[in-house]
Amino acid sequence: MGPGGSTVIAVRAFRRFTVRVPLPAELAALGPLSQNLRWAWHAPTQELFATVDPDLWARTGDPLRVLADVDPARLAHLAADERFCARVEQIHDELRQYLAAGQWFDGFAQTHPVPAGIAYFSMEFGVSEVLPIYSGGLGILAGDHLKAASDLGLPLIGVGLFYRSGYFRQGLDRDGWQVERYPVNDPADLPMTLLTEDGAPVLVEISMPEGRTLTAQIWVVEVGRIPLLLLDSDIAANTDDALRGVTDRLYGGDQEHRILQEILLGIGGMRALREYVRITGRPEPTVFHMNEGHAGFLGTERIRELVAGGLDFDTAEAVVRASNIFTTHTPVPAGIDRFPTELVTRYLDADESGISRLLPGLPAATVVELGDEADPAVFNMAHMGFRLGQRSNGVSRLHGEVSREMFADLWPGFDAADVPIGAVTNGVHGPTWVAQRWRDFASSDEDSAPEAYAALPDETIWSTHERLRADLVDEVRRRAHASGRDRGFTEAELAWTADLFDPKVLTIGFARRAATYKRLTLMLRDPDRMRRILTDPDRPVQLVIAGKAHPADNGGKSLIQQMVRFTEDPALRDRIVFLPDYDISMARHIYAGCDVWLNNPVRPMEACGTSGMKSALNGGLNLSILDGWWDEMADGENGWAIPSAEGVADENRRDDLEAEALYTLLEETVIPLFYDRDHRGVPTRWVEMMRHTLTRLGPKVLASRMVRDYTTELYCPAAAAFEAACADDHSGARDLAAYRRALETSWGSVLIAGVEDESLDGELRVAAHVGLGGLDPETVRVQLVLGRVDDEGEIVEPAITDMSPTERDASGRTVFAVTVTPPASGHLGYTVRVLPRHDQLSHDAELGLVRYPVAG
Ligand SMILES: *Cc1c(COP(=O)(O)O)cnc(C)c1O
Repeated sequence: MGPGGSTVIAVRAFRRFTVRVPLPAELAALGPLSQNLRWAWHAPTQELFATVDPDLWARTGDPLRVLADVDPARLAHLAADERFCARVEQIHDELRQYLAAGQWFDGFAQTHPVPAGIAYFSMEFGVSEVLPIYSGGLGILAGDHLKAASDLGLPLIGVGLFYRSGYFRQGLDRDGWQVERYPVNDPADLPMTLLTEDGAPVLVEISMPEGRTLTAQIWVVEVGRIPLLLLDSDIAANTDDALRGVTDRLYGGDQEHRILQEILLGIGGMRALREYVRITGRPEPTVFHMNEGHAGFLGTERIRELVAGGLDFDTAEAVVRASNIFTTHTPVPAGIDRFPTELVTRYLDADESGISRLLPGLPAATVVELGDEADPAVFNMAHMGFRLGQRSNGVSRLHGEVSREMFADLWPGFDAADVPIGAVTNGVHGPTWVAQRWRDFASSDEDSAPEAYAALPDETIWSTHERLRADLVDEVRRRAHASGRDRGFTEAELAWTADLFDPKVLTIGFARRAATYKRLTLMLRDPDRMRRILTDPDRPVQLVIAGKAHPADNGGKSLIQQMVRFTEDPALRDRIVFLPDYDISMARHIYAGCDVWLNNPVRPMEACGTSGMKSALNGGLNLSILDGWWDEMADGENGWAIPSAEGVADENRRDDLEAEALYTLLEETVIPLFYDRDHRGVPTRWVEMMRHTLTRLGPKVLASRMVRDYTTELYCPAAAAFEAACADDHSGARDLAAYRRALETSWGSVLIAGVEDESLDGELRVAAHVGLGGLDPETVRVQLVLGRVDDEGEIVEPAITDMSPTERDASGRTVFAVTVTPPASGHLGYTVRVLPRHDQLSHDAELGLVRYPVAG
């Protein structure tokens, strides 16, 4: 057909561009309102854009898309509407006030020494579905961290990568097999602006092997008050395709692609941060937070900067350690980020004298040592994170414990319990994840929510939740229909989706990555039993399921397929559905509308888990294995703990036992409680649990709580340590570096040669003869460790007392002594130990050095 013909043909655009109609002057403020992602957690701004074009808003949920696609005539009409214009001005004023007003952090800073600035590095950020540069929990946590930091007023800057295709969009083929699509993110359609100076893009450069250069430009996203810097390698300056493609996809390539991304994030990210701070005049960050090991190269770049400024490597390392924080996010060994040492060495690219070209001034071999693990062929990013971060943490109490075991080898000589890895339990951002119907009750802010919920009548709690469940049912029907069309089914074949689910039926949600340990298909262990539970005529259950498998994970994809096939049984399909393309926009509906949130990971593989928290903030009751956050927060009234069969070594048997426990809990406890109604149709005991969840659990799972914890427990101490390390031309850091060198020479000769004790009048005096190998007695800590002794001879919950140097014995050893009052009875025991002692150590175990008495 010739020109003017009407055949619809799909041709791929060679280049894309967006034509923006200038906004009428009266509506100019819509510009800044659409650019700052604060709208993502500000309902009035969302309503404003919904008013501009309700259809466009419903389809896209994206202010920039609304402004790009709205009919200019509609804009002209709105510009003439005085009430609307006044509303735009009012919301814009509100944004300006939000950006300027004093927040929690300002008050806190009145009474506490605080960091001037904090840099937060992460491989992914899930701030909003309109900026799809996240894959799942880690990214959404980072997004929530930024939003809460914004609300609290922290001087924080985020640093990450801008991916042209982000993470994949998930579809299904007719057989229920996952298919991946990679839509292109066009910066012109996204709420971000290029960092420029004198009209030219600011670029960062990184030296690559064979004399090449990796160059990146920097996008700035405004997340409320927090700038998020995103590096982008897709520019003409990278003539080499491999370099240009470094930021093409998130978690998409091979090891080589991945190390390039991490080099860009850590090293390029530091350089971008320095440029941004210089140009904007913001205070230099004094604290650097690595969200997972991916960001580890930032520590090496900081050492490089300091060495370039004249410090020796050890002193520079001491400064960097003092102010770096490392958060580990996985207890799954396969989840730890590791590279072949050979690959790291290649990119460090040493010259003839062994100095890295990637990090000029640093010996390549020394950098390689930072990632040492037992296997010399492997470079471990988490190990580098711990070695370059004086403070570190896991993301729930249980995960802290598991991490102390898992990484205990990095602190030889210490029991796992003494390993200096703390815990800050994750949280989720209330204004993002709490449904508007709930937020309407707590008018002022999230801190007042518990009181507001406490005062609500049972019927109000129940009817609010029932409306949210009905909203979810609408969403499920819409998505199931769209997914069916996408898979190639006809309208006739999809007629059933119009009646899919029932707004009155107990609704259980299960949505998460299809990682093996999360056991997507545990509920299908006994398919007949599951079938009976779903289709019970009197007390039915419906289940909404979602989750993506990593594109390279065929195991995960076949779990999804198994699940999809189960849901396609005509006898079941009204009660169980798999919705493809789990992301923030879908997640919001599911968390808000489900009665029960199910989670059945293999304990203790779930570091924290946050989806159950989002459900709880909406009154959902958790039904979960006691793993991650639930292990510390389940209290018997906010949901149910699925007993885990942790001691059972046979995985199959363990799955059977835990599935059995899950079915039984559902059949005997959860379902009867849900359908136990009073004369008004309200399940009063269920509502009691909802109220308890909303008022008592809600405040504990908030990202604002998490960010306050990070501030008080990690950011402030790190800022103080940084100041101490840098003061007086880095004398603190020089001192610590010199001390570490002295320990390297002398520690090998430190020994406790003999211990004497003497009891008198209920007091115990202990004296230890310590050979110090030339160290000054003031530079070691000698301790008495005393307590009850168990059957194995272990001291349980010991009391630890410092001992003081008294005299020298005949062999020239220093005698350290102390007198204590032991408990009046019981099997007691003690030992003595020697530890390094220095003002700038954050923890006794920090250097991994300890000496106990020679056995015998
Ligand atoms: C919260 C969330 C996650 C993480 O949930 P987990 O419980 O940690 O598995 C993943 N994806 C989306 C879209 C989320 O909103």
